[in-house]
Amino acid sequence: MRRIVILGGGVTGLALGYLRNRCPAPGDDVLILEEGPSPGGTVRTIREEGLVLEAGPVSLRTTPASDRLVEALGLSDDVLVADPRAPRWIVRGGRARRVAAGPSLLLGGALPLAARLRALAEPFVARRPADLADESVHGFFVRRFGAGVARWGAEPLVSGVWADDPRTLSVRSAFPALWEAEGRAGSVLRGLARAPRPRPRRTISFRGGLGSLAERLAERGGRAGVRIELDAEIAGIEGPFDGEGNGGVWKVQIADGTVYPADTLVSTLDAPSFAEALGPRLPRSGSRLAALSYSRLAVVLQAFRADSPDAAPRGFGLLVPRGEGLRSLGVLHLSSLFPTRVPNGVALTTSFFGGALDPSAPDLCESDLLRLAEAEVRRLHPRLGPRLHGRALKWPSALPRLPVGHHETLRLLDADLDELNAGRERPRLVVTGTWRDGLGLGDRIARAEELAPSL
Ligand SMILES: Cc1cc2nc3c(=O)[nH]c(=O)nc-3n(C[C@H](O)[C@H](O)[C@H](O)COP(=O)(O)OP(=O)(O)OC[C@H]3O[C@@H](n4cnc5c(N)ncnc54)[C@H](O)[C@@H]3O)c2cc1C
Repeated sequence: MRRIVILGGGVTGLALGYLRNRCPAPGDDVLILEEGPSPGGTVRTIREEGLVLEAGPVSLRTTPASDRLVEALGLSDDVLVADPRAPRWIVRGGRARRVAAGPSLLLGGALPLAARLRALAEPFVARRPADLADESVHGFFVRRFGAGVARWGAEPLVSGVWADDPRTLSVRSAFPALWEAEGRAGSVLRGLARAPRPRPRRTISFRGGLGSLAERLAERGGRAGVRIELDAEIAGIEGPFDGEGNGGVWKVQIADGTVYPADTLVSTLDAPSFAEALGPRLPRSGSRLAALSYSRLAVVLQAFRADSPDAAPRGFGLLVPRGEGLRSLGVLHLSSLFPTRVPNGVALTTSFFGGALDPSAPDLCESDLLRLAEAEVRRLHPRLGPRLHGRALKWPSALPRLPVGHHETLRLLDADLDELNAGRERPRLVVTGTWRDGLGLGDRIARAEELAPSL
């Protein structure tokens, strides 16, 4: 009998357990250990006051793997698809300006004219020096597209996706497609134009919110024999021991003292928790992973009365560069994205505060956050009616901050894992996480699908 223990019961851990055990070898045993009180990790849907609210991710950009998973889980009929033409906005000069997604951003009025003209010269900018192994997102955009695009395009993009500081975030690790496009073609725009057209991705959620995905994974996983221990904080891990006998290769102890033997350990933890649990077995990468920091975020969910259709915010949402007089990093328009699950005459917004550029914002108390979020949403959408509901939540370790040179940490981790797993038919330790191999939910599911057969 092989015992597989998955550390972390977020979407990645749940999907790994479910996908691994759809066709288990006879006798295999899959256990998920999750320190929180419910499965789902960062995915946290709150259903209250007749509303479906998202404290964490609000939508999933599909990948072929996520499409297959949604279908296998019987969730296809619950899928809600956001309008792909829904506009996105950036605040500049106190006004929300519409932006196109992708390279077309460079042509629209969101950027000052001088910035647009400079950006169009990108294909003629010299290719990066051969010895430049990585650089900050800010440095990359200034070099390729000019300071205007770095200020008005890259900074809000970095806030919206990574809640990070573009001057410290690694472009190679955080936006590998842009880094590779330049590497391939000597120009980002030429490289993107030559890349094979990706399958169109949809932006989806479910009638009951993204929580439906976590709930269904836990339920179907349970039917396939995957056990989930909640409130099970990892307290210590011993091993690897030599044999795969009854004692197991690893012994995982949780906070209440229970010890679980494992032949294969799969970590889906954040980098510092992973390094704390397994650091001594990672002589090359352990201390670098332990030092990886995370941004903090506060999220404010609000429902407003919106009696006329033009009172409600339209489109996907807006991003706010610093210096625009607003503290919100961005505001998502949930009722515009998935209108069919919102009661008539109600508008839902999600405001984000904090991140690396405003690290003290999450220290505000709940009532101050609610006041701030309401004032800023009203400034942008003055015709909204009274607020019907509001809720502020905090994420103390929201998103990993990948420093310039992070790829080198990952290379050292690969070397540590190669050594640990050398000569084994099945790996002893498998590691995945947003800090290693993809941030979006669609990518997390793709990673789970890729790894499950190897366990
Ligand atoms: C506010 C916010 C908004 C986001 N919005 C989007 C979005 O709209 N779309 C999108 O695609 N992505 C979004 N993301 C990113 C996305 O949510 C994550 O990348 C994804 O949920 C990660 O899933 P995971 O299972 O890999 O990790 P996690 O969800 O972080 O799961 C890891 C699990 O490990 C557990 N754990 C940690 N330490 C221990 C320990 N010592 N012992 C036991 N268990 C432990 C944690 O409790 C957690 O449940 C957002 C993230 C945040 C924070």
